[in-house]
Amino acid sequence: MKLEVTILGSSSATPVYNRNPTSQLLNCNEKFYLIDCGEGTQQQLIRFGFKANKIDYIFISHLHGDHYFGLIGLLSSLHLNGRIKPIKIFAPNALQEILALQFKHSETFLRYPIEFTAIEATESVLIYENADVKVETVVLNHRIPCTGFKFSQKPRMRKLIVEKLEEDNIGIEYYPLLKRGADLNLPGGKIILNKDYTTDPTLPKVYAYCSDTLFEGRYFASIQNCDLLYHEATFLHEMLDRANQTHHTTALQAAQVALITNAKKLLIGHFSSRYKALLPLLEEAKTVFQNTELALEGITYEI
Ligand SMILES: [Zn+2]
Ligand SMILES: [Zn+2]
Repeated sequence: MKLEVTILGSSSATPVYNRNPTSQLLNCNEKFYLIDCGEGTQQQLIRFGFKANKIDYIFISHLHGDHYFGLIGLLSSLHLNGRIKPIKIFAPNALQEILALQFKHSETFLRYPIEFTAIEATESVLIYENADVKVETVVLNHRIPCTGFKFSQKPRMRKLIVEKLEEDNIGIEYYPLLKRGADLNLPGGKIILNKDYTTDPTLPKVYAYCSDTLFEGRYFASIQNCDLLYHEATFLHEMLDRANQTHHTTALQAAQVALITNAKKLLIGHFSSRYKALLPLLEEAKTVFQNTELALEGITYEI
């Protein structure tokens, strides 16, 4: 089952050097989850060949503009383009008020319903699940309430060795039981052992998204053992004082988070406008955690 993330925006506060404010598109089994929606997100979707109408879930980490100023535009375009199916939004409660005010004064009456779930940045909780994935919040420490999101794939069913099943004339009516891991007791007394006719499913993967935060231990427990950890890395470590003042993280600290939480791979982003070249941030992170990559716009990272 597919789990991959495409970076739509990798910049922090302002768009600069062709980099856009934060947004990511997670594809889980061909369902699309938008994570943050900075200004320019809908143009980025078009640029990289994604249909905005395929997005059914939007997660907003916090109400700094670089994480949601693209939302009203995106929601309006979906309306103008004839969307009728609902969209789920998970965000701080105040966003409802902000959206309502913007729609009120533009006399916009959406054709599709918004199903809004208010998020509180107090404790890590499950906010959504379906057959493919469950989503939990990660409580971060930023200047205003802020949560990251952890997407965990649901365990998959066992894989059938179809040629062998056909060879031994085992009817397809037994396939669902075998997929679930059961042994079979066929009429006539023949025993079919599951392990002879199935193989292990691919392991479920975990993706965690940590947007703006101060480096501190409180959220580490909720992001243990991720297959891919996205973590903001706004500054180089020589700017640690600035990072602490603004409740952000340095590239070195992001790498420390990956190391401490036993991530398999780290993706760093939310780059400050002071850095035209990003290689120094990558090199700094790699001194602590080798398997690090830059979150580059338009690139899709398999999880
Ligand atoms: Zn930000
Ligand atoms: Zn912020």
